[in-house]
Amino acid sequence: MFVYIAGAGAMGCRFGYQLHKAGNEVILLDMWKDHIQAIKNDGLKIVGDTEDCVKMTIMEPTEATKEAELIILFTKAMQLPTMLQSIKQIIGKNTKVLCLLNGLGHEDVIKQYIPEENILMGVTVWTAGLKGPGVAKLIGKGSVNLQSIDKNGEEAAKKIVEVLNQAGLNVTYDEDVLPSIWRKACVNGTMNSTCALLDCTIGEFFASEEAIRVVDTIIHEFVMVGEATGVKLDEQAIKDYVMKTSVAAAAHYPSMHQDLIQNHRPTEIDYINGAVAKKGDALGISTPYCHMITDLIHAKEHVLKIK
Ligand code: NAD
Repeated sequence: MFVYIAGAGAMGCRFGYQLHKAGNEVILLDMWKDHIQAIKNDGLKIVGDTEDCVKMTIMEPTEATKEAELIILFTKAMQLPTMLQSIKQIIGKNTKVLCLLNGLGHEDVIKQYIPEENILMGVTVWTAGLKGPGVAKLIGKGSVNLQSIDKNGEEAAKKIVEVLNQAGLNVTYDEDVLPSIWRKACVNGTMNSTCALLDCTIGEFFASEEAIRVVDTIIHEFVMVGEATGVKLDEQAIKDYVMKTSVAAAAHYPSMHQDLIQNHRPTEIDYINGAVAKKGDALGISTPYCHMITDLIHAKEHVLKIK
């Protein structure tokens, strides 16, 4: 299959690398000039569970011309509209677009560019990191759940599942993916922002009763808002999942800590706790914890002079 990875950061490199190794034609699209130059000069270097270096095609989004069969979106949430605007020329009437970003509400942005029968929404628990320009660190195993948002796109989506599985990406076609997307958002909404604000690991944060009260309240706000938008969510099952994840990832600093505290980059807060606060306002549901956490992360961005 002819695949573009729109946003070739850590996760884009993982998916691009695995699809390339499985024999697909893959083009990476990115805006980070040093990263593009490093991959053009030396290839994409893979470290971690596997050591490898592969020659891959990478360019800026506006340089791409050939119509895509599949575009996998892997920007940060706030980069998504600019990316979609910059790749309009490679989107044909049969181009499928798969979104695996963390966070909520991306389908509303994507629908402005792509017909609904061509949009696949999903969630992944694969992980990846960038060690620097052109170097991706890939550790551990993961999986993907995805669904076409329109029944008419289901058959084509299942073919894409096959292609991704041939690349070892462990993908399931999910008849109702929204609960999984919201459950992952609950994981991010309870540990990303809090560990970034408190400058601690997941295990350090989850060690106190007070923290667990905060976690429970955030999950409750997510569930109230999610259910009001028609997503079926089991609050106790989500709490259990979050607690289990916190144990498995206890030693880690979550990605928002890495972005905000370690690298002074903007965060995806508006698409996680911020999205719940905004949807809650529109629905008349009170979400004071999500509001406060969103405001505090933005305040911290301001303190650190991050634009
Ligand atoms: P990333 O930060 O690695 O890359 C996103 C974009 O930022 C890319 O275009 C990349 O080139 C650019 N970028 C990265 N470092 C940069 C730097 N120092 N200077 C300039 N530009 C830089 O993002 P990611 O981790 O691949 O995440 C993409 C999406 O996938 C997000 O929505 C994220 O929440 C989600 N996600 C990430 C993981 C993970 O383990 N990384 C897991 C699941 C979902």
